[in-house]
Amino acid sequence: MSDADDRPTAANFVREVVLADNEQGTFGGRVQTRFPPEPNGYLHIGHAKAINVDFELAKEFGGVCNLRFDDTNPDTEDTSYVDAIIDDLAWLGYSEGEDYATPLYASDYFEQLYRWAELLIEQGKAYIDDQDSDTISEQRGGYGKPGVESPHRDRPVAENLDLFRRMRAGEFADNSMVLRAKVDMQHENMQMRDPIMYRIRASEHHRTGDTWKIYPTYDWAHGQSDAIEGVTHSLCTLEFDSHRDLYDWYLDQLRDADELPFEQPRQTEFARLELTHTMTSKRKLLQLVEEGKVEGWDDARMPTLSGLRRRGFPPESIREFLEFIGVSRTNSRNEIELLESFVRTRLNKIALRRMAVLRPRKVAITNWPSDEAGNPVVEQMELINNPENADDGTRSAPFSGEFWIEHDDFRAEPPPKYYRLTPGREIRLRGAYFVTCTDFDTDADGTVTQVNVEYDPATRGGNAPDGRKVKSTMHWVSAAHAVDAEVALYDRMFTAEAPGEATGDVFDDFDADSRELLTDCKLEPILADTALGSVVQFERLGYFARDVDQPMRFHRTVGLRDEWANIQKRKN
Ligand code: ATP
Ligand code: MG
Repeated sequence: MSDADDRPTAANFVREVVLADNEQGTFGGRVQTRFPPEPNGYLHIGHAKAINVDFELAKEFGGVCNLRFDDTNPDTEDTSYVDAIIDDLAWLGYSEGEDYATPLYASDYFEQLYRWAELLIEQGKAYIDDQDSDTISEQRGGYGKPGVESPHRDRPVAENLDLFRRMRAGEFADNSMVLRAKVDMQHENMQMRDPIMYRIRASEHHRTGDTWKIYPTYDWAHGQSDAIEGVTHSLCTLEFDSHRDLYDWYLDQLRDADELPFEQPRQTEFARLELTHTMTSKRKLLQLVEEGKVEGWDDARMPTLSGLRRRGFPPESIREFLEFIGVSRTNSRNEIELLESFVRTRLNKIALRRMAVLRPRKVAITNWPSDEAGNPVVEQMELINNPENADDGTRSAPFSGEFWIEHDDFRAEPPPKYYRLTPGREIRLRGAYFVTCTDFDTDADGTVTQVNVEYDPATRGGNAPDGRKVKSTMHWVSAAHAVDAEVALYDRMFTAEAPGEATGDVFDDFDADSRELLTDCKLEPILADTALGSVVQFERLGYFARDVDQPMRFHRTVGLRDEWANIQKRKN
């Protein structure tokens, strides 16, 4: 795969929109965006796309991007999510004080939103409906099915105001009434059929506590919050396409009443990021967490940013991937292997090479020398840290008369084209010696318990002075010096490419066994000093991230093989 930096920048139609606006002077050349997460879960890889679009466009045009929490639903939101979102954003590369001023909250605008709601009531553009919610949604009709006007649609202004104030004061039970905008019950867009602006909720809000008994809906809060902040380009995903009429309608009313402090913001929708074998719905990710199907939001299998971080994905590789796929208005599903190829490309440059044996098999050198006290000699072998970067230098790894190899790197009876260790075969131990298998020991069942080899002292460093060649180079870990560790290997968390598409339920495609935890792994000793959370390459096995909480656990980030290239070949 070519270097990420060589790849052309992909099309981003939102950039064209902004350029056109600037040319026409729509917002006086101003560009202001916002990233508006609801603090009801952790950020996932899909959010990374929105973050990238929102922050990078503002940056490119010398504008501003706010982080604004869309915290209008007290039932599902929590400050722990606020904190996690701020942390994950910083990890991805967007920090408070540098990329955005200070986090903003829709809940800070509750009073303003309330006053604007009263204004709409006073203008006869909103009314209290105390029908039950089933009736209200039944009356909304459907495509080709006319809407039915609420019997309360023409409630007198004074009565609406009185009821709304009493709603705010907490006089009524949850769900007993709502405030609705009086738009058009026959509008072809269902969102315009007298949408709900306020609901009654007795719940505690994570920031405003019990101050409020009524909460604005997404539609009433969102565009107005944009307007309060001076957002110019309100960028969101395609599912909000049908909300745009309403977004505009609310703002039109406020503009006509001379209430808008800035130019009227405009909503532009782009395609969601979807990845194969991946599910990005906060609600369903929460379900995985709550049902204990994963260890938490930051389980290394999760497509959350904190999961990807634990898994060892460099944040730069996520951003490079997003730049590569671009931004369009057509929904599609990108291959997870493409994202992984960016991860691999970046890790290849930065990850130090190390040796680890995941499924150990013991090998003994029968002609290895002993020292005067009768103990096996220990030699320090010098190994290159990263062939991609000479500045990373070398390290030494201890080598002695017994070492571990991968279980599969020896076969008593080799199949055709097997070039690794087998009786009579000579192989190279990476950076150490050539060894030739003489025989092996077995237990009573015939299971191989130990492989015996002879080494050639003249091949120190891994090269034969007589120029003879071997067909394979294997990794190894000195048995006397090995560090014990656990290594987690991962399969796709969802077996189907499009989870839930065939069955209608994503959880039908959930693979409970997508993690294989190997508990008897042997690491070269320097790995005990690897920084928590950092990623190394285990030679021949892939890239592995050291866990931050369980220091003797490593997670396989990605394998070494470029599966994306294979997919491309298959397609062509
Ligand atoms: P989810 O469906 O996962 O709960 P959401 O849209 O409800 O996501 P929000 O916190 O409301 O989550 O999203 C914040 C921003 O991120 C919104 O602008 C939303 O459009 C965007 N976003 C959410 N999911 C994706 C995705 N898969 N791809 C691109 N942008 C996304
Ligand atoms: Mg949402």
